[in-house]
Amino acid sequence: MRIPVLDLSECTDCEGCLSMAPQVFFRSGVGQIMVADLAEYPEEDVDEAIKNCPCGCISWEESG
Ligand code: SF4
Repeated sequence: MRIPVLDLSECTDCEGCLSMAPQVFFRSGVGQIMVADLAEYPEEDVDEAIKNCPCGCISWEESG
């Protein structure tokens, strides 16, 4: 299975990922953008977020 991972070192907090895939990306209580723990990730929405993240923070990672 593939999971989306975040490298926030370049993140400008534009919130694009939050609006493009709100079921996947969310803001934690301390304000950090995080990936939700899902059994399956909506491929198209994540691909859209990857494509549109201005800072290249999002990528797929093989897991399990
Ligand atoms: S789209 Fe990219 S730069 Fe914008 S908030 Fe999400 S991770 Fe950060």
